[in-house]
Amino acid sequence: LSPSEQAVLEKIDEQNIDFLRLQFTDILGTVKNVSVPAHQAEKAFTEGIYFDGSSIEGFVRIQESDMRLVPDPETFSVLPWRADEESGAARLICDIVDTDGEPFEGGPRQVLKSVLAEAEEMGYSVSIGPEPEFFLFKKDEDGNATTEPHDNGGYFDLAPKDLASDVRKDIIFTLEEMGFEIEASHHEVAEGQHEINFKYDDALTTADNIATFRAVVRAVAEQHDLHATFMPKPIAEINGSGMHSHISLFDEQGNNVFADDDDEFNLSETAYQFMGGFLEHAPAFTAVTNPTVNSYKRLVPGYEAPIYVAWSDTNRSALIRVPDAAGVSARFEIRSPDPSCNPYLAMASLIAAGLDGIKNDADPGEPVREDIYEFDEQKREEYGIDTLPPNLGRAIDAFEDDEVILDALGEHVAEKFPEAKRQEFGEYLTSVSEWEEERYLEKF
Ligand code: GLN
Ligand code: MG
Ligand code: MG
Ligand code: MG
Repeated sequence: LSPSEQAVLEKIDEQNIDFLRLQFTDILGTVKNVSVPAHQAEKAFTEGIYFDGSSIEGFVRIQESDMRLVPDPETFSVLPWRADEESGAARLICDIVDTDGEPFEGGPRQVLKSVLAEAEEMGYSVSIGPEPEFFLFKKDEDGNATTEPHDNGGYFDLAPKDLASDVRKDIIFTLEEMGFEIEASHHEVAEGQHEINFKYDDALTTADNIATFRAVVRAVAEQHDLHATFMPKPIAEINGSGMHSHISLFDEQGNNVFADDDDEFNLSETAYQFMGGFLEHAPAFTAVTNPTVNSYKRLVPGYEAPIYVAWSDTNRSALIRVPDAAGVSARFEIRSPDPSCNPYLAMASLIAAGLDGIKNDADPGEPVREDIYEFDEQKREEYGIDTLPPNLGRAIDAFEDDEVILDALGEHVAEKFPEAKRQEFGEYLTSVSEWEEERYLEKF
């Protein structure tokens, strides 16, 4: 065993851990768990734990279903809501190994690792800081989730209107126990909506953290008898939930390569190229960063969510905003991703888009300072501003047309992801909604 694997065994012993939850994420971003008794830890590290890959969405065909989970010892974390003196549970995030003992190409964590390996070859490590938003809803008598907001607070409101500040505090304490560094938390614009920001980290750790964050928020909300949802737009006509992501690149000496103090926006040539790559591949990666039918109901004018493929230092209707920050903090914020995405695949496609921009000296053009929500089509054309795909179907079309994004995600995901998403979109198109019923049932 490696020293960090050995350290995990010691912690299991010291903290009376009985069960290990071996955690991984399927292609669609759902977190899966296999629970094993803690005495299996050594075996998990050396051989891996077999599971049936064919029963996991988007993984493998039935005839090649024996896959193994191999835990990453760096991700060991006691689950605070399961812990007491005598007995506890801990989780480990796993990589997936196929029947030949090779890293499974279709495992989302593996996909991100290979994009990060490419970044490293180019001399960069990637930092990402996410801002996930979510809603807290009441439950009905039967314990089912409703869409009735838990409180009627608004942006940065304080208690007593912000009833959820206790829930948020519990979420934050739990995350801190699990090693998160929380930077800020506040009530968001919509009723029942919240945001908690944790510190940026390398992209792989951040993707792991997002998966953990979603699990913690749901578990703690549950303890308060509430339902937490990361559904992007649970209620029409009020703000949806995004997951803005702040990105910067560092070189081997730890310098932020996006920084240039002589530039108007404190950004370097490399930063502009990266941004250019973002803008170029945005329609394609939207299928990954905004992967549900519902995602596109958030990406409409008027709710602080982006629709236009442009960048700006001031206005929040653009896809990319450059915060007023310099030196080590120089970065930009991409505002389209939402928290229903698979964080590994989303980070992988964002980074691949940016790196392609660096390789091809992409040009992001001039910043747009006006409110683009107010532009008509003619003015948008004049400014050369594209829009993001208006629905999941069009997003998949753009995804399948983009060799750079397809390549970055690898053959397996490039095939399975759009297949699953087309099916989802097809089901949506043939479903009959409440809106249609209200509109047509009595009219015709
Ligand atoms: N909720 C908004 C979105 O959908 C963002 C609001 C904000 O953070 N200013 O992206
Ligand atoms: Mg924020
Ligand atoms: Mg926000
Ligand atoms: Mg933000």
